[in-house]
Amino acid sequence: MTRNTEPLAPDDPRHGTINGYGNLGCRCDACREAHRENHMRYMKKVRETGSLSGPDVNHGTSYRYDVGCRCEECRDAHNAKSRATKARLRKQRRFR
Ligand SMILES: [Zn+2]
Ligand SMILES: [Zn+2]
Repeated sequence: MTRNTEPLAPDDPRHGTINGYGNLGCRCDACREAHRENHMRYMKKVRETGSLSGPDVNHGTSYRYDVGCRCEECRDAHNAKSRATKARLRKQRRFR
């Protein structure tokens, strides 16, 4: 696994782009902002395309929680999933 962790030069034109944040791993303010905006655009699209109310997406799933639903069923599913994730991480750490 090779990962380019070399920091971008301050005058690199890729600052403030999704590329800078995602592929180049830059976490400067401009890049983080670009990432945040991209994420917000994505979430907005999800909402606009009706994924939230699609018949194929049931309540009680952590996916549904992720796209913004905060009903009891979805919160439960989300909590159960994050509990499972945390338990898994703990287990992994123990084996190192
Ligand atoms: Zn940057
Ligand atoms: Zn729900």
